[in-house]
Amino acid sequence: MAIWNLGSINADMIYALPHMPTAGETLAATGLEQYLGGKGANMSVAAARAGSHVCHLGAVGPEGAWAVTRLLEYGVDTRHIAQLDVPTGHAVIAVDPTGENQIILFPGANREISEDQIGAALSAASAGDILVMQNETNMQAEAAQMGRDLGLKVAYAAAPFDAAAVQAVLPYLDYLFLNEVEAEQLRDATGKTPEALGVADVIVTLGAKGARHYDTTAGTTHDVAAHSVVPVDTTGAGDTFTGYVLSGLDRGLPMAQALAQANRAAALMVTRKGTADVIPDLKEVQDARF
Ligand code: ATP
Repeated sequence: MAIWNLGSINADMIYALPHMPTAGETLAATGLEQYLGGKGANMSVAAARAGSHVCHLGAVGPEGAWAVTRLLEYGVDTRHIAQLDVPTGHAVIAVDPTGENQIILFPGANREISEDQIGAALSAASAGDILVMQNETNMQAEAAQMGRDLGLKVAYAAAPFDAAAVQAVLPYLDYLFLNEVEAEQLRDATGKTPEALGVADVIVTLGAKGARHYDTTAGTTHDVAAHSVVPVDTTGAGDTFTGYVLSGLDRGLPMAQALAQANRAAALMVTRKGTADVIPDLKEVQDARF
């Protein structure tokens, strides 16, 4: 089985600044670090490190070859990543000495993926494979419909949250992932509780409180308590959680076990600084002592 991930690939450029710039100010940065980022790339790395065959569907610009190489090094199948004539998506992140940040996000190639590219990639998928998307690329609804038509299990992480984007894919979903705030925003937009969305499995992550799974077919809910850790950096915890749940399902685990593994992986992740580059592999997750 395989996981097909229509997802963003970003360069996260982190500039250390003496203070946040004010309007009109020119400010020299004291440092620059560049990492692989984007919710899509994070999820691909998480699911690959958990042991799944992950085919990333995405796009980079002419200067994005390093990001593709990095994904490949982390075990992701990169054959369906297009190289386009627009810049690679990137985030310019300014951080001051107190840790406060400001982020400019440029979607670039992530929003230029063609329907033909998706069709060509998914023609190699098998019924029962998983297709996952987040809200950082174009073509989400088209891909979701294609996935459903091909007999794939379709998953969506509604982040960054946009009510119209979730509602466009909702009819095609088997799995929906939301954090607590997104679950509230979706309830405000639709007037529906997670049980009433028409999606078989809805998973709401609750940060340090863990996660809740709504099995809407059985009409049951299942809570997973978070492990007790000292958080260092929660960035990427949600993406790691989603990648691990989907990989667990892809590897044939029942939902409860997939959630338990994801909860361990995400707990480990919040003890680490960074995103895609520090996502734990399955052995680290299994060996972790909480
Ligand atoms: P992010 O956007 O920062 O990646 P998110 O808002 O999508 O995260 P959260 O609900 O904050 O997602 O966290 C996802 C999962 O990570 C939780 O369900 C839990 O398993 C784990 N987690 C997050 N924070 C903590 C914490 N402080 N202690 C233990 N586990 C945590």
